[in-house]
Amino acid sequence: MTRIVAVSSFYETAPWGVEEQPPFLNLAVEVVTGLEPRELLKLLKQIEGELGRIEAGRWGPRLIDLDIIYYGGRVIKEDGLTIPHPRLHERGFVLAPLSEIAPDFVDPVSKKTAAQLLYLLDKDGIIKKFDAGGAA
Ligand code: ADP
Ligand code: MG
Repeated sequence: MTRIVAVSSFYETAPWGVEEQPPFLNLAVEVVTGLEPRELLKLLKQIEGELGRIEAGRWGPRLIDLDIIYYGGRVIKEDGLTIPHPRLHERGFVLAPLSEIAPDFVDPVSKKTAAQLLYLLDKDGIIKKFDAGGAA
């Protein structure tokens, strides 16, 4: 069983790279799961596939991207699965929602909390958009 136990606000982030596309919406959720990391990744890919099918055949911005940021305090470096997510320290759009639901969670690699990692970052262009309960 996999159950969502916390949901952050939605954060709007300006697109980079290809700029002629709408902004991204980012949020973090905490789940309790009996699945091992590999199985959880498989579930996320399956959900991405199911949601993606709505837009099948259309080019354009990415519909959904589900990543595993942490899996408790585990550190995993395998082919196709790295936890903690390797680029999380650079990404305000990950750390802002993460800090909302787990500010005191200690990153097993850097030993810093989510709130500390966010503090160290440039937060320009990351706008809190909706509360978890609905539209602002
Ligand atoms: P992005 O890096 O933008 O999330 P994709 O969603 O296309 O790109 O993911 C590419 C691959 O990254 C996935 O197929 C998966 O095997 C791998 N991957 C490695 N670590 C993780 C992680 N922590 N969470 C999700 N996917 C991961
Ligand atoms: Mg992904």
